[in-house]
Amino acid sequence: MTSALRAAYPPGTMPKRDEIMASPRPAASPSAPGRAYLRYGHATHQGLVRADNQDAYGIFPREHADPTRGAGLLFVVADGMGGHQGGREASQMAVHQIEERYRASALRDVAQALRQAFTDANAEIYTRSTQDPALQGMGTTCTALVFRRNRAWIAHVGDSRAYRITEEGIEQLTQDHSRVEEMVRQQLLTPSEAATHPQRNVLSRALGVVPEVEIDLIEAPALETGHTFLLCSDGLADVPVEALHEAVRTLSPQQACDALVQQANALGGHDNVTVVVVRVEQVPRPATYRWGAFFIVLAIVLMALLLMGACGGPPAQ
Ligand code: CA
Repeated sequence: MTSALRAAYPPGTMPKRDEIMASPRPAASPSAPGRAYLRYGHATHQGLVRADNQDAYGIFPREHADPTRGAGLLFVVADGMGGHQGGREASQMAVHQIEERYRASALRDVAQALRQAFTDANAEIYTRSTQDPALQGMGTTCTALVFRRNRAWIAHVGDSRAYRITEEGIEQLTQDHSRVEEMVRQQLLTPSEAATHPQRNVLSRALGVVPEVEIDLIEAPALETGHTFLLCSDGLADVPVEALHEAVRTLSPQQACDALVQQANALGGHDNVTVVVVRVEQVPRPATYRWGAFFIVLAIVLMALLLMGACGGPPAQ
């Protein structure tokens, strides 16, 4: 935990987090047959205990799902904290700022563009919190995922998570920036002790709480068809990782998001929950396309046979 965070939130007094920016479901249009595209789903819920939802998420752009176009596709999940107004403001600011800054970035390097977007969003949220007493001390987690061509990058601050699911299994790509997870990494706590620790929701790093923040940047291995990524706020923490894997493996991205939100609520719905699932798929070739290719090959073979017949006819007497 940084000293500034500790000053803002003494241990055990970190404000609860809650609420949402409701994003309309995007109509993603697949690209040309045979090309890779991203099939995704998203869901959020305030849970069964909190009075509102301070989670926020965003997907950019909405017009297409082709990672080879322009700056690729950006997915962002944020989980705000800092009282009723502050938590909501911080998470929505993070999503909007990062979408805007990433889109406007002139940097061709995705990792650099993400780092700059997070740095700028952090400064904006921090400045806003110092200008309005009602927003003092607000902050947010933020996990962003960019797909560009056949690669993916993650930028991350806080305890929201990114997972990658392949045929080999499920892997958590991000580290939780929470006080108890830092203690687990230092071997001061076991994972099972951390799971029930009273300070398990106390963050060690968040966006907007201090003027400058350290940002984790992760590059995923090369993408292949079927690779799936899951972003979530910590409202999904009660759902076992095996259940995440099962839902993503057996359901469509949207069905998986809906099912996992239901599971979080069935386990008590103690917190706001947000889930985004993105799968790399390939646009199927339509039957007419396949028949067209068949007739072209057939015509080439017939022409070759005719030419062979013409050249190999009986010699002149
Ligand atoms: Ca939360």
